[in-house]
Amino acid sequence: MTDSLRSATTPFRLPFRTRLARQGTRLVNGISRSLGRGEGTVIGGHVGLLIDPHAPRHLSEGRTVVLVSGTNGKTTTTRLVAQALSHAGPVVATTGANLLTGIMATLANANDAASVVLEVDEAYLDQAIQLVHPRIVVLLNLSRDQLDRFNEVRMLAKRWHDTFLLSPDVEVVANADDPMVVWVACGLPKVHWVGAGVLWHQDAVGCPECNGRIVFDDKGWHCTGCDLSRPDAPAWVEEDVYHTATSRLPVHLNLPGRCNVGNAALAATAARLVGIPAPTALRSMAGVHDVLDRYASPTLVGVATTLYLAKNPGGWAELIDMLQDHTDPLVMGINARIADGKDTSWLWDVPFEEFAPRHVVVTGERRWDIALRLAHAGVSAAVAGSMEQAIRAAAAVGSSSHVDVIGNYTAFQDLRHDMRHRVITAAHRAPYAALEAPCAPQAARVAPGSIHQRGSGEALHIVVLYPDLLGTYGDAGNGQIIANRASWRGIPVFLTHVRADEEVPTDADCYCLGGGEDAPQTLATSLLQGKTRTSGPLHRAHARGAVILAVCAGFQILGRAYPGAGGAIHEGIGLIDIATRKGEGVRAVGELRCIPSTALLAALRGAGVADSPQELFLTGFENHSGRTVLGEGTSPLGMVEAGIGNGDGSGTEGAFLPGIIGTYMHGTACARNPFLADLILGMVTGTALSPLPDDAARELRRERRAAV
Ligand code: GLN
Repeated sequence: MTDSLRSATTPFRLPFRTRLARQGTRLVNGISRSLGRGEGTVIGGHVGLLIDPHAPRHLSEGRTVVLVSGTNGKTTTTRLVAQALSHAGPVVATTGANLLTGIMATLANANDAASVVLEVDEAYLDQAIQLVHPRIVVLLNLSRDQLDRFNEVRMLAKRWHDTFLLSPDVEVVANADDPMVVWVACGLPKVHWVGAGVLWHQDAVGCPECNGRIVFDDKGWHCTGCDLSRPDAPAWVEEDVYHTATSRLPVHLNLPGRCNVGNAALAATAARLVGIPAPTALRSMAGVHDVLDRYASPTLVGVATTLYLAKNPGGWAELIDMLQDHTDPLVMGINARIADGKDTSWLWDVPFEEFAPRHVVVTGERRWDIALRLAHAGVSAAVAGSMEQAIRAAAAVGSSSHVDVIGNYTAFQDLRHDMRHRVITAAHRAPYAALEAPCAPQAARVAPGSIHQRGSGEALHIVVLYPDLLGTYGDAGNGQIIANRASWRGIPVFLTHVRADEEVPTDADCYCLGGGEDAPQTLATSLLQGKTRTSGPLHRAHARGAVILAVCAGFQILGRAYPGAGGAIHEGIGLIDIATRKGEGVRAVGELRCIPSTALLAALRGAGVADSPQELFLTGFENHSGRTVLGEGTSPLGMVEAGIGNGDGSGTEGAFLPGIIGTYMHGTACARNPFLADLILGMVTGTALSPLPDDAARELRRERRAAV
């Protein structure tokens, strides 16, 4: 055993209540397992914590405790750290259960373990640090995930930041390539930077320190407004090599992907801190082949498969990179239960376009959300009612005998459950039922170009404004949908994503603004303000007759005032007469369903876009703390049936004015309500539009109506 691994606490030194808590946890978990109710970590851990809330503290004493947290890669990195540390003595590690109850359950089984490696949910890191006083915390990355639970990435980063200020003794191993992680850890006395890489930058363009803009380049990243920049990292990965100032160690993992090399580098750095040399640590890590079935290759219903988990845009970005050379058929299972996040808007942030050449079958409770998203990404997908059916259908359509299977969190858990109970392992002989629907894209999709590539003067020009600041909740999908629905009807169209460092064109036909976090919202507002109150780019575009679709933060920005990150009121661009203040009480988070306002109904009828009123409900997902009051002459977009909407007590949702649609609906709004996209197209073309098939959208609306 290395010097720095201390001997484990002997049981008799534990307080009586702690021993009781440990016994209680083990007993309940044992019963849960014997009843076939799973591992029981939650219920057992809960009982243990009820008996002695300080038990984790006592059970960790005398051991080396390492916590691993971040948006993506927690479970795998926990496993890699545990594997590395096992070189120096017995280790106990969490296996997927990453709340405080899981920590309790893991520690209850620590026995003579010299080291404890705990995976910790991002929202519980502060409490976990207080609870177990870790020696090392590994911070992987921080980006959007389950925003209905976390609300904003910066809110979470702030909590982490405040926690570490109170725990200066903790050794922090942190990813230097993630600005959010760096902002959390910079200035801490014991930080060890690792250049572990990260592909997803979209949540870090607005600087968490100064509200300035962060730019990413070959050398790393830096803020254009303050000193925050990528720190020099004494350890880093390049290709598949772990570098330090004095060594170059090839990383030979039995796990795929760039991200896992980065995870291994962070794990090796943590292992070094407890005296395990990096070559030894990396060698042990090669013993990890799959992690709770992620990357496993079981035969399911007679089909050879490989399993992957991806649950948010950052994780999908890494997975798409990992699968770039794969050509086999692909199954995707998407759910939206509590553990997944109930809002599926994030599907519009994932570059599924990359899967266009592959055969895809989708399944899961939210299969219509993903089917519609894929149709807009130019991916033809079939829709299956069950995972089993999906795998068999995928194997049948492709010429390959192997299928890649990707699930988001609970879709993956369900699959593992079915595997354990052999529901899905046997090769069924009965033919599978017909698929629910083939869901082919109507025609090729419109890909976003840059401003300088503007197409012919004849083409409609749709602009998605600042997706890097106002793109947190999937709303860039609106621009994509409007452009595709034009293109699918043969209308020439050009789509531009205008980023925060680009000039806003004032000659476009339609501008889409999305939701964003409080601080980037302020940066976006300042970029949209002109020299005089009415000379900003959106004022000029609107005066020319352009249409503006603005969601949540984007909607608030159009008004007179809105609350910033600290609650202080900022000036909006004053294009419409609305004012937003911080809401008292809980944030408005959840499904939003409305009936269209009379103004919207009249416009829809006038444009011939929709004629059966009973079909005309508005559906979306909201996530905001702002409460918006409409000025006297401002008509709402809808009247709330379920949810909060403007939340000022008037029962209204959004605003509808000539050339302007403002709403709190994410979801994405035009995905769930395609008639809004068509209304906008009707406004900018001035012509009647031919109907589109819209099967997936219709199914999605039916499913959402039944669910809410
Ligand atoms: N930050 C704003 C609010 O909370 C907008 C949030 C959003 O765009 N979803 O009101």
